[in-house]
Amino acid sequence: MTESVRIDLHTHSTASDGTDSPAELVRHAAAAGLDVVAITDHDTTRGWAEAEAARPAGLTLVRGMEMSCTGMGEDGHPVPVHLLAYLFDPTDRGFAEERERLRGERVARVRAMAEKMAADGLPIDPVAVMATAGPAVGRPHLAQALVAAGVVESVDAAFRELLAPHGPYYAEKADTPLTTAVRLIAAAGGVSVIAHARARKRGRLLALDDIRELAGLGLGGLEIDHPDHNAADRLVLTELSRELDLVRTGSSDYHGSNKTIEIGACGTAVDQYEALIDKASGTPVIAP
Ligand SMILES: [Zn+2]
Ligand SMILES: [Zn+2]
Repeated sequence: MTESVRIDLHTHSTASDGTDSPAELVRHAAAAGLDVVAITDHDTTRGWAEAEAARPAGLTLVRGMEMSCTGMGEDGHPVPVHLLAYLFDPTDRGFAEERERLRGERVARVRAMAEKMAADGLPIDPVAVMATAGPAVGRPHLAQALVAAGVVESVDAAFRELLAPHGPYYAEKADTPLTTAVRLIAAAGGVSVIAHARARKRGRLLALDDIRELAGLGLGGLEIDHPDHNAADRLVLTELSRELDLVRTGSSDYHGSNKTIEIGACGTAVDQYEALIDKASGTPVIAP
């Protein structure tokens, strides 16, 4: 591999809350000049097979997932955390059961939020929302329904005004404790990487000491070059990754037209990508 290799290790398809189908996602990645792309939908591997089948020649596909977890916040209270899981064995029993439980939580949460809106008189039909979104339902589907019904102007506005954790219609879901998730991913031969750990606009931050503890349990890396990270926070994470000997990744967190970030907007260095692959034993990358 050469210096000009372009690697994006965090993207979403319609298997969760992106707007590109898995096939469109890999074609888009190749057309955008990427050499390596990871498909990392929320709590599901549903898009893997389609992405693999549609993979253009020359593009390397890394199969992964972004898992909804809870960790300890800097303020001593639990905080939601996204954990990227790469190259794990999808048939590993313990991990598969946990993914199934998470999907159930996601469906129940969106239904509860839609029902709260309908009860409050908003023009949202919970049954229709659930039917349109299918098994991959998430808050973005509810956001799109709110835009279509003319309640808000955009998906961004829906999140800001109605769907955020402190918004009027938010409902909780029981996510996986980070310690459990890191152990499950390692047991399935995968590599875990904490996604956007310092993304301040998303809310309170995970305690750095929690990351130190996770490193002792088998955490593989930290996502550092992410659109939601400022320069100072990238520096904090880089120093921590050196202290703990963790892989440093970078990625766009591309969601298609649900967000304005383009695929490949941030990337991972080749040596770090190779270090990540070296740690994995659950399922291979699909290389040209
Ligand atoms: Zn995330
Ligand atoms: Zn993401």
